[in-house]
Amino acid sequence: MAVVLVAEDDQDIAAILTRLLTRAGHTVLHTPDGMAAFERVLADRPDVVLTDLGMPRMDGLELTRAIRRHPDLADTPVVMLSGHLHPGDSQPVTAGVCAVLLKPCPNDKLRSVVQDLVDRGPHAHSDNGAACPAHRPVSA
Ligand SMILES: [Zn+2]
Repeated sequence: MAVVLVAEDDQDIAAILTRLLTRAGHTVLHTPDGMAAFERVLADRPDVVLTDLGMPRMDGLELTRAIRRHPDLADTPVVMLSGHLHPGDSQPVTAGVCAVLLKPCPNDKLRSVVQDLVDRGPHAHSDNGAACPAHRPVSA
């Protein structure tokens, strides 16, 4: 049981993710862009942030960097979900993402990655983010 914030501008995908994570027992907060997500992370301190890459106003990489730079939020686990990354793309890792999932992501995989980070809880990242102890390579 955890609070998961979903940052996703596509309403259909957001609805699918919300249903999936709610069924897995989590409380889901949804925001349609990275800027709104950052404000919500600050206000509600979710256990895990699940963010899309491409979003209006602030994208998922900028959101992740903003979380990592904030002294009170820096240890928040972040998962990135995207259809636009290439396997091995280092940008999310450098920004401080804990795990990268490519769309379409199988439901059980999404559930297990989120659950792993809920179980691990807040954890420190080094300045370049690459030292996330939970990091997994990009996988399809
Ligand atoms: Zn991490």
